[in-house]
Amino acid sequence: MPDNEYLLLTPGPLTTTKRVKAAMLRDWCTWDRDYNGLVQDIRARLVTLGAGRAEGYTCVLMQGSGTFCVESVIGSVIPQGGKLAVLTNGAYGDRIAQMARVLGIETAVLDSGELSPVSPGELEELLRRDEAITHVAVVHSETTTGMLNPIAEVGAAAKKYGKTFIVDAMSSFGGIEMDMSGLHIDFLISSANKCIQGVPGFGFVLARTEELKRCEGQARSLSLDLYDQWDTMERQSGKWRFTSPTHVVRAFHEALKELEDEGGIKARFERYTENQRTLSEGMEAIGFRALLDPSVQSPFITSFYYPDSPDFTFLAFYEELKKNGFVIYPGKISAAQTFRIGSIGDIHPADMRRLVRIIADVTGGTAATAAATRN
Ligand SMILES: *Cc1c(COP(=O)(O)O)cnc(C)c1O
Repeated sequence: MPDNEYLLLTPGPLTTTKRVKAAMLRDWCTWDRDYNGLVQDIRARLVTLGAGRAEGYTCVLMQGSGTFCVESVIGSVIPQGGKLAVLTNGAYGDRIAQMARVLGIETAVLDSGELSPVSPGELEELLRRDEAITHVAVVHSETTTGMLNPIAEVGAAAKKYGKTFIVDAMSSFGGIEMDMSGLHIDFLISSANKCIQGVPGFGFVLARTEELKRCEGQARSLSLDLYDQWDTMERQSGKWRFTSPTHVVRAFHEALKELEDEGGIKARFERYTENQRTLSEGMEAIGFRALLDPSVQSPFITSFYYPDSPDFTFLAFYEELKKNGFVIYPGKISAAQTFRIGSIGDIHPADMRRLVRIIADVTGGTAATAAATRN
């Protein structure tokens, strides 16, 4: 039996290795030194990946999917009377603004539209105008389109005005080198099942320790209290407050060692970049067009326009690819008809070449016709 029926070319969960999956074939108790030591090692490794040798950073692991972690940050770090500025250009940025509204946090939204990067210039203007703003939040890789946002410039603007800077780096962390100190990031959020290549079940927050210490007692939720979760992990050396996803944690630890064996984030970034390049060049050669300009395209996920054929339906296309061993992702934007293909996980350029050949086969003449019409 093959390891997998199909490769997941989605933005999470991803295709993981046998090594990572095998780590889940044992049951683990949650309170002894072995397990807690593993949790501490995970936290230390994550801090090193995000902040290198810089002092003053810490890590909290949190049960649930990535969204739970974002919500734990939004609900715990903005004090009563604080105000959040959200820069958005897609569904995940919009989700942060929605969370803030649900939690009763005053919010200012800067929406640059799905097809443009967020604007650090507009943020500066807003921060000059509105002194009530205390926090700034942005998505790094906006999975809605595949766009990489200019977080260095956004961080510089936030820093210039002394604001706390929150980054949803869900679909980028582990797949691209990031230095929290240089980027002025106070809180960075990601999850187990994205570029670190673990399985779903928890997420993590990297934080500037000084900033996190100020969050005691201000959470708007008990289970998503970021400070309390951190405090317990610190004081009890790797203990989670409530039942931890033990198998998932074990698999994640293996995934971190696997990342190191691959050559670290730099090597993984190169593989993902090569995957994405192979995919987009191959797709273009058979007549498909990518949604984004290469200058803002991330190496993680790519949106393609539907071919111009009236016969094309996403569902039939999807089913045909699935039969041939690949699962892709529907589009999510309102401005155009698109589908998305992820290039992260245990995926390699040869997989992308095989995928493109199959797409050429299953679309028959349609993509080629589309190309001919444009030329
Ligand atoms: C995957 C993802 C999330 C979290 O989504 P969940 O479904 O809750 O895991 C948040 N932001 C971005 C940019 C993502 O790609």
